[in-house]
Amino acid sequence: DPRLQGISDAIRVVPHFPKPGIMFNDITALLLRPGVFKDAVDMFVERYRGMGIAAVAGIEARGFIFGPAIALAIGAKFIPLRKPGKLPGEVISENYTLEYGTDCLEMHVGAVEPGDRVVVVDDLVATGGTLSAAIKLLERAAADVVECACLIGLPKFKGFPILLTWTQQPRLIGS
Ligand code: IMP
Repeated sequence: DPRLQGISDAIRVVPHFPKPGIMFNDITALLLRPGVFKDAVDMFVERYRGMGIAAVAGIEARGFIFGPAIALAIGAKFIPLRKPGKLPGEVISENYTLEYGTDCLEMHVGAVEPGDRVVVVDDLVATGGTLSAAIKLLERAAADVVECACLIGLPKFKGFPILLTWTQQPRLIGS
């Protein structure tokens, strides 16, 4: 898909952010280019439209940028998966391990109905730890997680920004 190159080119890689040695993939540069931003959303929408998706679950914070646009376009509800202490209602939580330390995602009880077909959205997958926690959280609420959609895949794709989906194995879509 010719749109992939434009998306790839629009993602800025910032060395040594937020710490020395880290190459940070910055999607805010892509957001400044409405045509490319639209291409990225459209590629996911084309994939998920007509698949009976009941909910798009976005991971805080950059999953909140792409997720709602996809949800609105396919007629699905949007569910924010948030860092601890941000959601006001009753929540279920899933702790997960990072390279240094741990983190946690929370979801409102009742956000998904049992059997809801769900797509999880984030900007970037590295180890997959964050997505795995999101999947566990949704499955504990009896959701049917169909796929995860990220704009950037690391390190399997050697740092090249790409669209990918994640079921058993990550794979490119639309190309
Ligand atoms: P994982 O859990 O190791 O797959 O890391 C993915 C999570 O870390 C996602 O929520 C990303 O938003 C975040 N992340 C890791 N590296 C980067 C980066 O270079 N740019 C933006 N987000 C990143």
